[in-house]
Amino acid sequence: MAKLIFERPTITRLTPGVPSKHGVGTAIAPMPLIEGIKVDDLMDKYGSPLSIFSERTIQKGMEDIKRAFSIRYPKVQMAWSYKTNYMDAICRIFHKEGSWAEVVSGFEYEKALRNGVRGENIIFNGPAKNAAELEKAVRNGSFIHIDHLDELYLLSDVCHRQNLEARVAVRVNMDIGIYPKWDRFGLNYENGEAWDVINRIMINPKMKLMGLHTHIGTYIMSTDAYRIAATKLADLACNIAQKFDHYISYIDMGGGFASKNTLRGAFLSGEDTTPSFDEYAEAITSAIINSQIKPDKLPTLILETGRALIDNAGFTTGSVIANKRLSDSRRATIVDVGVNLLFTSFWYDHKIHPVNSHSGLVEETTIYGPLCMNIDVIRPSLMFPALKSGDRFVITRTGAYNTTQWMQFITYRPNVILIDHNREVHVIRKGETLEDISHNEEIPEYLK
Ligand SMILES: *Cc1c(COP(=O)(O)O)cnc(C)c1O
Repeated sequence: MAKLIFERPTITRLTPGVPSKHGVGTAIAPMPLIEGIKVDDLMDKYGSPLSIFSERTIQKGMEDIKRAFSIRYPKVQMAWSYKTNYMDAICRIFHKEGSWAEVVSGFEYEKALRNGVRGENIIFNGPAKNAAELEKAVRNGSFIHIDHLDELYLLSDVCHRQNLEARVAVRVNMDIGIYPKWDRFGLNYENGEAWDVINRIMINPKMKLMGLHTHIGTYIMSTDAYRIAATKLADLACNIAQKFDHYISYIDMGGGFASKNTLRGAFLSGEDTTPSFDEYAEAITSAIINSQIKPDKLPTLILETGRALIDNAGFTTGSVIANKRLSDSRRATIVDVGVNLLFTSFWYDHKIHPVNSHSGLVEETTIYGPLCMNIDVIRPSLMFPALKSGDRFVITRTGAYNTTQWMQFITYRPNVILIDHNREVHVIRKGETLEDISHNEEIPEYLK
């Protein structure tokens, strides 16, 4: 037998972690860089905690969704859902990428105007529009999405008194096979309410029916739900064409696509289980194309995608304050990011990465925020390495809803920065000060 050739041994540290019960590895990779920029440098300069957005990730998401839909359907228009993230800089990136504005309140409507969106490119949704807001939207030529009968009559009244013509669409809710049904917004398809309102609009000389809208929910994992919804709206469009010889100019499928986050308690990672834009696009466009709508009358397809376009572009970084052992000897790590900044930790198992390399040894850990309240839990239980006081971490996919639903509670909200397409860094919302928070307070004379 020939002598074996000597090979110099090498030692490599393996940090696979203990597989979860589904065989998924638990190794936690450090995340020293975001968009090629050192997280440590950003935190040294802008503080901890810190909220970070990546313009490149937003652009990539917009590119992906536009491509998925426009290769399948001739007319597609995006409309940025303000409530998902209405920081002006973020909205302006979406507008720069071609999105209209989709707003659900008078406040958001004003914000869209201030961000330079033309009135006729604003979609006004929401269940609580008052007469003054409706009048303004009508004068600006915005699309008003009727949520209920009282709103239809209020709008009709405004239009008659001011002699204006409104461009409207009907918000339709329907059974899409997901329960409990989302039926509190808009008018129901199955019970004929939506059709009733469509008929009332068609005979109203002050209203022009421009489109049909539905927003079936949020973080919808089923593409079939979208297929059903698009089929029902297309059927309504056909009925309108048949009865009134009127062709609506758009079908608006709302938002609700899932981001790659993982829902709390889900067995498998959202990265593996949520549908791609291509899969959503296939379901929606095939339903419209295969309906009885004539090819030359196909309406524009509007998408109000929020979460799936901004979640991945947002990062929240923070620092460890302390570690302790709970009464059952489980490790608890207390960090400076609480549910005040990370509202979405109530329903997501957010991924958390140490900024710098660590021992690789993981242990079941609960991650608590800094608030004096029991619900301030960022992760109830995860396999996590031991980080020391002052060690930093990055929480990924925090871009949706957190900077709109965050709350000011016993502490200041931090700087929000944007890493732009040239990898330059901008503060897009300054960290709060005592002056900001006290600004609107007034002290009665006798307490001075
Ligand atoms: C919230 C909302 C959206 C965005 O939903 P996502 O789940 O963030 O995509 C779109 N349209 C309407 C009417 C909404 O209320």
